[in-house]
Amino acid sequence: MSDCIFCKIVNKEMSSTIIFQSTNVIAVMDINPVAPFHCLVLPKEHYTSILTIDPGIMVEITSAIQIIAEEHDLEEGFRVVNNCGKYGQQTVDHVHFHVMGKRQFEWPPG
Ligand code: AMP
Ligand code: ZN
Repeated sequence: MSDCIFCKIVNKEMSSTIIFQSTNVIAVMDINPVAPFHCLVLPKEHYTSILTIDPGIMVEITSAIQIIAEEHDLEEGFRVVNNCGKYGQQTVDHVHFHVMGKRQFEWPPG
């Protein structure tokens, strides 16, 4: 989608810090981190949310998270978040998974 910032990142029309790439998936550092480690794992193809993503790509996203956790020393634990839709407070309509680590998280979230 031409007006999607994450499509622009995928197409290198917008700069970002890419930390992982595979056939269908990319991961970039979040521009506004809420943890000492905070990246976003997303499909290269535009899907609006987890409701419409090809479930097959979820396998590749899981694999990406496993590799990122290993490469970035997240062995003490981390949090994966997908904000979906209005109630989930999704702000970028290109499905993505926040991977946050290197601090203690609370439960339940706000
Ligand atoms: P969400 O609210 O779940 O849709 O998350 C969107 C995330 O994208 C936020 O954490 C933003 O900080 C992040 N973000 C927005 N623009 C960029 C960008 N150009 N590069 C990296 N992260 C971004
Ligand atoms: Zn997009």
